[in-house]
Amino acid sequence: MILSRPRHYIGRFAPSPTGPLHMGSLVAAMASYLDAKAHRGQWLLRIEDLDFDRNAKDADQMIIDTLRRCQMQWDGAIAWQSQRSALYEAALQQLGDAIYPCACSRREIADSRLNSQATSITVYPGTCRNGLPAGRQPRSWRLKVPAGAQSRRSFDDRWMGRLSQDLATEVGDFVLKRADGFWAYQLAVVVDDAAQGVTDVVRGADLLDSTARQMYLQELLGLPYPRYLHIPVVANANGEKLSKQTGAQAIDVGGSEKDVLQHALLPAAHFLGLHHLAGTDYPTISSFWQQAISAWQQLLEEHSNTATASAKSAD
Ligand code: GLU
Repeated sequence: MILSRPRHYIGRFAPSPTGPLHMGSLVAAMASYLDAKAHRGQWLLRIEDLDFDRNAKDADQMIIDTLRRCQMQWDGAIAWQSQRSALYEAALQQLGDAIYPCACSRREIADSRLNSQATSITVYPGTCRNGLPAGRQPRSWRLKVPAGAQSRRSFDDRWMGRLSQDLATEVGDFVLKRADGFWAYQLAVVVDDAAQGVTDVVRGADLLDSTARQMYLQELLGLPYPRYLHIPVVANANGEKLSKQTGAQAIDVGGSEKDVLQHALLPAAHFLGLHHLAGTDYPTISSFWQQAISAWQQLLEEHSNTATASAKSAD
């Protein structure tokens, strides 16, 4: 099958270097890599190292080495967000009256009554929207989200189907520049995806509830929407998302190609739903990738057939 593809395809893997790659982040890397290869597109690597407090020493190099050992070769030069502040500053300026300084601490926001409506996100109650309370100093910069009928953003996720979020009631005005002076992920990711010409974002479903915010920012900045595909998050035996916080183990890519296959690539393929690959013996990593690309195409095709069939039966 040939995947219907945009005139060109640029995808990316955008890890935060908070630690070495674990199985959850390798699965996200693999999905974005396979999708780019299946579309004969480019695959970029961007290190999202904006949160200097959470960056772990040498984690960026460990991530790069792991990708190399897995023979996942990115196109072009690696982008480092820590070197791109001028772009984020320019975008913030471009937003003009849509942004405002905010004096609230996390604690004050958490204590606000509106929290009861929130799911995973704490809804900002709008305290500083119409000006800082007397005697308070600005800490962060927030973006005003639209209210009422204008506030919902919907998109067709290539994996999850049609999704939507109401920015006013589910998110509230969100931070673009943080109280600690760091650029917020939401602003940086939108600016970089556009500056790098990314057409397709493939990432973990833990970022699903950021997508509506990113779409709104794209609109305000006059940037195109990329297509989105969010893959299910890899969980541990307790049902928690694999992450540094939940104690996920670093991927072991020492040893021979066979070891890399056995300890990293085949388990990641299994998590992605490429089950038959996981049970096969590959002589080399490159032979694995060849099979994995066509298996990914097939998986997407089956997935979209199932989605179409269930949409029809729901009609
Ligand atoms: N840097 C984010 C992370 O490591 C991913 C950002 C994205 O893919 O949009 O969770």
